[in-house]
Amino acid sequence: MLCLGIESTAHTFSCALLERRGKKGRILADVRRIYRPPEGEGIHPREASRHHAENSPHVLSECLASAGVGISDLDIVSYAAGPGLGPCLRIGAVVARSIASYYGIPIYPVNHALGHIELGKMLTGARDPLVLLVSGGHTMILAFLGRRWRVFGETLDITLGQLLDQIGRYAGFASPCGPKIEDLASKSSRYEPLPYVVKGNDVSFSGLFSATKQIIPGGLETACFSLQETAFSMVGEAVERALSFTGKKEFLVVGGVAANRRLSEILQSICRRHGCRFFVSPKEYAGDCGSQISWLALLESTRKEGAKLEDTFVRQSWRVDSVEVDY
Ligand code: AMP
Ligand code: MG
Repeated sequence: MLCLGIESTAHTFSCALLERRGKKGRILADVRRIYRPPEGEGIHPREASRHHAENSPHVLSECLASAGVGISDLDIVSYAAGPGLGPCLRIGAVVARSIASYYGIPIYPVNHALGHIELGKMLTGARDPLVLLVSGGHTMILAFLGRRWRVFGETLDITLGQLLDQIGRYAGFASPCGPKIEDLASKSSRYEPLPYVVKGNDVSFSGLFSATKQIIPGGLETACFSLQETAFSMVGEAVERALSFTGKKEFLVVGGVAANRRLSEILQSICRRHGCRFFVSPKEYAGDCGSQISWLALLESTRKEGAKLEDTFVRQSWRVDSVEVDY
């Protein structure tokens, strides 16, 4: 079965073609174009959606061409229906709906966060992991129980990706700033104390954000190092407690921030202590991409028919723990 997946929740417009044979998936093509705001600025939803609208025909045709596939070969089409930025989500939905209605192809609106999790499982081979989803839009610890992904800890304010991006922007870099912060952090080993806030099993980054800004004049590399050590240790503490509580023997990190080597190092040492296997999404597929959307729809199509066109909405706030999983 062949599926076209369309991702447009935030900065990335991506189309991917995946094939499912039984439980196995294969990525035939995954093409992306990323909206980059001016240095020092964040995502402007209207500008990002304009970027997606302008780039969507090129990304789609490049994707089909690189897989050597025509639209008539598609069995299903899918798009990320949320959570995300409304104007951006609508572009992906319109492209998917146009293809579905014109060519009579079943359409699957899917949850973006669930796509991160399922593609991570498919690519790493993890079967029943505790999952850490760390990206621009999420900071969540999740475990599967009773047909749903349940939350065992999350951020109370901004996400880990937002924290890194906002500090980077404050220092004058262009978003996304995670790789730049990682690079600067690796050049220092001097720790400046910063607010460490874990409440119950949730984390809060807003105090850390304000305090990091204040130490930047004393040295950007030291500020980045201290920021990473503090934020990643907070997440590590919550992960460790969730591992003890759930007793999971596998752990998987997904989302754009999963590309960070220092974060993996900290999480790997926690897994070692708990006799737990450590998995991390391959860097190329850790951040937002059409493959996540396509693979999730291929899984959902094993259990349900496509949606009616009149039900192909977008939902800006669509929590992953509200999705009933029946595949
Ligand atoms: P996503 O929303 O899943 O596409 O993830 C995007 C987020 O991942 C942005 O906030 C980036 O700054 C962040 N990111 C990407 N690469 C890295 C990295 N090497 N270290 C930390 N954060 C990263
Ligand atoms: Mg994402």
